[in-house]
Parts: sequence; C-alpha cells; structure tokens
Amino acid sequence: MKERARKNDISSSLEDIAKEIRGCEKCPLFVGRLHAVPGEGSASSGIVFIGEGPGAQEDKEGRPFIGAAGKFLDEMLAEIGLKRDSVFITNIVKCRPPDNRDPEPDEVRICTESYLWRQLEIIDPKILVTLGRHAMHRFIPADKKISVVHGKLFRLKSPTSGRTFNVLPQYHPAAALYNGGMRNTLMRDFKKIPRILKTLSL
Ligand code: URA
Repeated sequence: MKERARKNDISSSLEDIAKEIRGCEKCPLFVGRLHAVPGEGSASSGIVFIGEGPGAQEDKEGRPFIGAAGKFLDEMLAEIGLKRDSVFITNIVKCRPPDNRDPEPDEVRICTESYLWRQLEIIDPKILVTLGRHAMHRFIPADKKISVVHGKLFRLKSPTSGRTFNVLPQYHPAAALYNGGMRNTLMRDFKKIPRILKTLSL
C-alpha cells in the first residue's frame, strides 16, 4: 500500500512539472512549438533515457521519440525485454528547435535547470542513459568524446543537488538509422543495460 502511495506521489509530481512545461515561455523555443514534450513513461524501472530535443513528429503530438529514431529506440528496448512505457523517456530541451537545429547553450541551461534536474530528483533513477552527444554533455565533461566513452558507465554529481547519478552515454538512435555499423554498436551498448542494472541493485 505504501509503495502504491509512493508511486502515485511520483506520478503526480511529474505531472505537475509536465503542466509547467506545457505552459513554459522561459526561452525562445516556445514561440515556434506546436506542443511541448515533457517526457513520458514510468519511474519504476529505475531507467531514464534522455535525448536531445523533440523533432517534427514529437512537436506535433507532444510525446518524445515517436518518429523514426523512436521506432529504433522501441526496437532496442524490446531486445532487452523492456516496453517503452516501463521506462521514462525525455529530452534535455522540451520544445522543438526550429528546423531541428542544435539547441543553444542558453536554451539547454534554462530548460535543464527549470525541469530536467527536477524530473530526475523525483524519479531518482538507478541509471540515466543519454542518447547522443548533446544529452551526454549535460553530465559528462565537454572534453570527452562520445566515440570514446559510449557504453561506459560514469558516476557523476548532479549540478544542483550534489546527488550522484549513474550515467551510461550512448549514441543517438537517429545516428544509426542509415548506418548498419552504428546500429550494431548501439544495440551492443544497449544490451549492457540489464547487466549494469543488476550490478547496481546488488
Ligand atoms: N530525437 C530526440 O533527441 N528526442 C526526441 O524526442 C525525438 C528525436
């Protein structure tokens, strides 16, 4: 019963943040959006996936990773026995950058300080899986290259709370769409997740 109450508390705190995000006008990205994309899924598995920012499809529907890259993400999740609604999926910026340009440093700073760190404090994940270099560099120093550190586990402090997170950087699923070699690399890195989770739970 206590566990159910705790889960309800987490869902309602995440929904409060999602409401704030849907009404957010803190950075210029709100001007061009159709829908903000707060993130979705469950906090119970202890896994959070963090991408860069919504694309066209996500902007249309207000849900993360539902386009071509999202289909590949779903496939990789299925490969390790997970459904997308059993993990939490979000992005470092919650509104689509125009023409899918890279988010500006200020947009990333404002959005993560206002929302992402709070989402992570509430979810309290066992592991964060960053997808692509933009998400990775929110956690891992800028001098580290994704080509070197992908698939390796880092323990890092949150800039706001000082809390330690386990971070597993991975390539972005979009990078693998037209590149078979990259697809294999991503799948290989993905398959490390269950083993890492098991070790972290011991
Ligand atoms: N790419 C991302 O980084 N995030 C999404 O939600 C969709 C595509």
